[in-house]
Amino acid sequence: MSEKRDYYEVLGVSKESSPDEIKKAYRKKAMEFHPDKNPGDSVAEEKFKEANEAYEILSDADKKARYDQYGHAGVDPNAGYGGGGGGFGGGGFGGFEDIFGDIFSAFGGGGGFGGSRGGRRSNRGSDMKINISLSFHEAVFGVEKKIKIKRSEECSVCGGSGAEKGSSVKTCDQCGGSGQVYVRQQTPFGTVQQVHTCDKCHGEGKIIDKPCATCHGSGVESKERTINIKIPAGVDDGSILPLRGQGNAGPNHGSTGDLLVYISVREDILFKRNDDDVYYELPITYAQAALGDSIVVPTIDSKIKLKIPEGTQNGKVFRLKGKGIPNVNGHGRGDQFITIKVEVPRKLNRDQRNALNEYAKVAGEEAHPEGKRFWNRVEAEAKENHSKKDA
Ligand SMILES: [Zn+2]
Ligand SMILES: [Zn+2]
Repeated sequence: MSEKRDYYEVLGVSKESSPDEIKKAYRKKAMEFHPDKNPGDSVAEEKFKEANEAYEILSDADKKARYDQYGHAGVDPNAGYGGGGGGFGGGGFGGFEDIFGDIFSAFGGGGGFGGSRGGRRSNRGSDMKINISLSFHEAVFGVEKKIKIKRSEECSVCGGSGAEKGSSVKTCDQCGGSGQVYVRQQTPFGTVQQVHTCDKCHGEGKIIDKPCATCHGSGVESKERTINIKIPAGVDDGSILPLRGQGNAGPNHGSTGDLLVYISVREDILFKRNDDDVYYELPITYAQAALGDSIVVPTIDSKIKLKIPEGTQNGKVFRLKGKGIPNVNGHGRGDQFITIKVEVPRKLNRDQRNALNEYAKVAGEEAHPEGKRFWNRVEAEAKENHSKKDA
């Protein structure tokens, strides 16, 4: 076995420390290094085990005396002095349970460490999942939906106790109602404490004389319910709406799970969405782009007059501030973006063709400065290449 640290050093106390001081020091270490607070941290786990081991010895006056006199050899079960003697060590786990009872209350009741390991076995009911498909507008402005679900609820006959009327529910004598038994095991790596579910009460902490005929002792029964779901304005495709306590009831007065509403939003034929902003393309004619216009365009909740200035270019984006989607967390509204798409006529009748030819004649080069710049560049580039060849 590897070198063991001094138990006093492990807990940071001295030989003169009172049992209370030792207990306090242990609590501090146990809370600091508890595996539930340090998931996956093997160093913390080692320290937790080390602190447990130290406390087991130092909290027991008899073992402490032996340790003070003989050191580790005085309390090593394999060395012949110890009480347990390998295997499932019989001695000492009462103390362990005691201190944990204290720690749990210090954390505010059973299960204080967050995991199901703390206190009684977790009786929390399972979460339920449902899918809801919304139209674009339902998602944008919120909607109320009536949904039929089948979930387990507290048994209406026994009120969740699981016991037939007139029969009694007793606290389990094997685990004292905790639903768990603590077992210490000597391994080549040291003492390991394990928490096992009590096999007498199957972790419930109590024993029912005569189980309720309706729920067979589970305390829950399956019920069909129609529930009203308020979908807040602004939800997006892929959001999950958790309805706390609307899932399955836990057995034996356990807490109720959540109802998780998975939201999918159908695409709109006009509006595209990105976060809280909406987008669409607005096709305008060449004449509208060149001459300017005022066009009534849709927003998600109304209509708005959009002024197209003279000379608006293809691809120009107009931003309508605050005309987007309400933020689901109430942080205002997004914007609406309108992208201009100048439509070139695909077919012209004779009159139109004549008019356009007339236009081309009078337009000259000023009508397309970009084009003028482009052809100037082409010319300059050609010249440069020629002079390079000559050089
Ligand atoms: Zn029942
Ligand atoms: Zn039990």
